[in-house]
Amino acid sequence: MRAEILAIGTELLLGNIVNTNAQYIAKRLADLGIDVYHQTVVGDNPKRLMEAYSAAFKRADLVITTGGLGPTKDDLTKEVAFDYFEKESVLHKDILEKIEEYFKKINRTMVESNKKQAYFPKDAIILHNNNGTAPGCIIEENNKTLIVLPGPPKEMKPMFEDYAVPHLMKYQDGVLASKVLRVIGIGESATAEIIEDIIESGKNPTVAPYAKEGEVILRITAKGKTEVEAKELIKPIEEEIRKRLGIAVYGEGETLLEEVIGKILVDNKLTISTAESCTGGLLAGKIINYPGISAVFKEGAITYSNEAKIKRIKVKKETLDKFGAVSSQVAAEMAAGIAKTSGTDIGISTTGIAGPEGGSDEKPVGLVYIGLYIKGEVKTKELNLVGNRQKIRNNAVLRAMEWLRRELLRGKVVTK
Ligand code: ATP
Repeated sequence: MRAEILAIGTELLLGNIVNTNAQYIAKRLADLGIDVYHQTVVGDNPKRLMEAYSAAFKRADLVITTGGLGPTKDDLTKEVAFDYFEKESVLHKDILEKIEEYFKKINRTMVESNKKQAYFPKDAIILHNNNGTAPGCIIEENNKTLIVLPGPPKEMKPMFEDYAVPHLMKYQDGVLASKVLRVIGIGESATAEIIEDIIESGKNPTVAPYAKEGEVILRITAKGKTEVEAKELIKPIEEEIRKRLGIAVYGEGETLLEEVIGKILVDNKLTISTAESCTGGLLAGKIINYPGISAVFKEGAITYSNEAKIKRIKVKKETLDKFGAVSSQVAAEMAAGIAKTSGTDIGISTTGIAGPEGGSDEKPVGLVYIGLYIKGEVKTKELNLVGNRQKIRNNAVLRAMEWLRRELLRGKVVTK
């Protein structure tokens, strides 16, 4: 099979951004044994895009595009592709619902133009985008395959790994097996550096890291004559990765962080309560995602105002006056206060400045303190987060949960 990568976007032509998508896809196609003879970059221009599709399909059986899937008029990748294949596109209601859901999740209003992203030909294979709004797709016609992916690398990579790679394996001899390891607490580049030699030398299995909502996903993929053989090939690589990354690997497959935490708490009969300021209930909501948590989760208080902090969880007025609500001292009293008043083994708290207003030189937007009380001992952690209000609040929750997991695993409170 011969492939061509077609990166779409005027920003690329102007040199405003580097075509890292082409680099990533080229490397992964090489891993899969698919030849790439040409890479093309074309701007957001319908005529030149059509020419690029024609030329690419003359040279290759598989064309993979990235970019130009946005809601605006100059995002034309799909529309021109459908014209090229002479396919009519229709509104996919289920896809539209997914896009609406995504907007709800990120707390933004969906504009009418986003509807454009739910239009595909009837027979296209739709690739869901769990990290953005624009779905991708696969079109197969007369032995030609087109795979359309979004531009932002954090959307493109998961879509490529989760949907395109399994699809491409259809064209390979043998059987593919893959395993996902979930890493938290170290970033994508640091993770890649620790296992650089494994990533670089990997032909079979291959290891592909990519960032996903505050965590890093490592996908190990192996090819064998049988599934058993492919799985056997994965084992030693997985072992080596786990050995190097230690407890940063928190789970595999579809495991959620809250499941890992919930299981430790329930297995060890450790009761927990939360006191939240800036995260306003998001932390409790996450912990409660774990079915069975009712055995140990006692109470979640949203103590947003100073009065609530004093009245409900016994934070001292003097502490608030002296250090301010966003301080490690208050985070500590909040954690201890909720644990004591709810009668739980663990109390966890958040207090911070989620912005956009309310920051100062001394205490900028993104400054968040987490308090953690575990059986009589209180610790605090300072976070300096970036992004908008929603991102800061979500990241604070993620970091608080990750810290809780690490503290639980430290062995002090976990009995088995
Ligand atoms: P969206 O749905 O977010 O609008 P899109 O599919 O329309 O995505 P583009 O608008 O083309 O994608 O690009 C969005 C951003 O993705 C760019 O500003 C750039 O940061 C990144 N990007 C696009 N193409 C590439 C590429 N080839 N390599 C690296 N980054 C890219």
